[in-house]
Amino acid sequence: MPALAGAAILMNSVMSSCVESGEANSEEFEYVVDRFADVEILRYRVPGFEDLSLDQKQLVYWLTEAALAGRDMMWDQNCRHNLPVRNLVEAVYTGWDGKKNDPQYQALEVYLKQLWMGNGIHHHYSMDKFTPGFSREFFEKQVSSLPADKKPDNVDELIEVIFNPAVEAKRVNQADGADLVQTSATNIYAPGLSQKEVEEYYNSIKVTGDTMPVSYGLNSRKVRGADGKVTEDVYRADGLYGPAIKRVVGNLEKALAFAENDSQKAVIAKLIKYFNTGDLRDWDEYSILWLGDTDSRVDFINGFIESYGDPLGLTGAYESIVNFKNNEASHRTEVLSADAQWFEDRSPVDPRFRKAEVKGVSAKVITAAILSGDAYPATPIGINLPNADWIRAAHGSKSVTIENITAAYDAASQGNGFNDEFVIDEPTRELMEKYLFVTDNLHTDLHECLGHGSGQLLPGVEADALKAHASTLEETRADLFALYYLADPHLVELGLLDDPEAYKAEYYKYLLNGLMTQLVRIEPGKDVEEAHMRNRQIISKWVLEHGAPHNVLALVHKDGKTYLQVNDYEALRQLFGSLLGEVQRIKSEGDYAAGAKLVENYGVKVDPALHAEVLERYGNLDIAPYRGFVNPVYTQVLDDKGNVVDIKVDYTENYIDQNLRYSRDYAMQGLR
Ligand code: ZN
Repeated sequence: MPALAGAAILMNSVMSSCVESGEANSEEFEYVVDRFADVEILRYRVPGFEDLSLDQKQLVYWLTEAALAGRDMMWDQNCRHNLPVRNLVEAVYTGWDGKKNDPQYQALEVYLKQLWMGNGIHHHYSMDKFTPGFSREFFEKQVSSLPADKKPDNVDELIEVIFNPAVEAKRVNQADGADLVQTSATNIYAPGLSQKEVEEYYNSIKVTGDTMPVSYGLNSRKVRGADGKVTEDVYRADGLYGPAIKRVVGNLEKALAFAENDSQKAVIAKLIKYFNTGDLRDWDEYSILWLGDTDSRVDFINGFIESYGDPLGLTGAYESIVNFKNNEASHRTEVLSADAQWFEDRSPVDPRFRKAEVKGVSAKVITAAILSGDAYPATPIGINLPNADWIRAAHGSKSVTIENITAAYDAASQGNGFNDEFVIDEPTRELMEKYLFVTDNLHTDLHECLGHGSGQLLPGVEADALKAHASTLEETRADLFALYYLADPHLVELGLLDDPEAYKAEYYKYLLNGLMTQLVRIEPGKDVEEAHMRNRQIISKWVLEHGAPHNVLALVHKDGKTYLQVNDYEALRQLFGSLLGEVQRIKSEGDYAAGAKLVENYGVKVDPALHAEVLERYGNLDIAPYRGFVNPVYTQVLDDKGNVVDIKVDYTENYIDQNLRYSRDYAMQGLR
């Protein structure tokens, strides 16, 4: 499962701005590359790449080539018209000989940028089809003057797809009661199949009682066979998407020569086998090998992975992320994990609820080197894989945070006006600019490495006693553990913070978000539903209610606007500790009634007046709700004998040039 930047929307603006760590600021790195429609395109840095060995750099290089070679599979999976529409629009765009300030041409450019952002004709998040801002007459005229080899036979059909809103209206339809297969534009299902017959097909191939089931349907297009029945057209070297898969495999074979050790060699070799056979058993074996490869510096995912693009939730979208371990940042989580018992023994909960022996989880922090397929241009900020439940239960999972991506989000948010609008005064803004990036990361580390693993159930309490509220309360518990310890001087002793006051930045942001700014993601009149949003509101409203009478914190009004004011951060820490004690009690005793009351009293309802105010203030800021990225460009440096002596990384390519280059250099030839 991917960790999205607040379910992909707005989160980072909500997380607000803060400083980049390290040298980034001094070099005036341009993070914002482009802005169009509802999208902002950013660039990310790959700090530490220069310090990799030449073999590791070459490994990264060939893995990035493998990633890009798969790009067009995702486009075709999303809708069968995507690649021909892209080719046609790119041909018109690049062949244009008129004035670039012609509004029709400019609208065409925006539309093309949207296509690249959505990997097709649908919005990557809403799944709705894009509406062109140029006229059909204009486009038809341009198409008619294209050279013959740029004009496909079905050009009229493609023009209809672009301009008729009723055709392929939604990529993934989730509406209750509809035939989700027939009403979704995704190309995972051939036209004419019904949901009922696809489901019957799956039922017919599933083996009952299988404790290690393959991920049915993960790597195939569902089609009607010669006998009229549903069957699968499998993505593999000599099957569907063969040309792209062979190219992925060719690059993986080159990468294999630079593998760091035997276990990484085995991972790459098994992945090659899987792409050749398309056999889902090979995929499972690969996933287990991948989990076990924890010593390599360089790592990657490449395959058909997340199934959000399938209305039935089974088929994986092509995706690749190549990365290497950020040793410095991973050191943080290792220090915390090694000291897990220290934190557990002092946790502000009833000692009966503490674990006698606690083991921290050492989550890895990584640096992304390339994003492709489902992870490009919009990308997750973390990964937790594999998805197969039985593998997770038997072998565990790898959980990573992609810190150079979160750093880019944070840096790009500087100066977008968000903090000026919502943070109460200049000293608080300065505190956040100075310490929010480091304390935000540390909060996540504490939450993941120690929070979830702390505490124990009393004997006889069922693990699922909190039922529907379990995940909200569990996130509440982990967040409270993190908030409580973020202010502990022990973090300074461990060398993880250099200022005992730094935690205040995260405290302010956390409460501002929970009380006000996260509301920008909720439509007027709606309740808070998502578990993490509920958990943040529970904590924030609870401490406001219990702290305000003692002048610890308050919502105050200045010039008709609402602001959070914190007067006593130390008292705030004690309030987080008390609530942690109560939430831990609820979990340890399985007190469903008290848990439900906490969620309903604090987590669900929204003050409509405050909500409207926040939406209005946010709306005035003109912050793009969605963000995507461009990749760096890697180039081999050769000596005069043709030997590779280095891999150079370049950050200057813009969004248009990058996508036109990808379409040209990594096009999947000979599809169907
Ligand atoms: Zn969590």
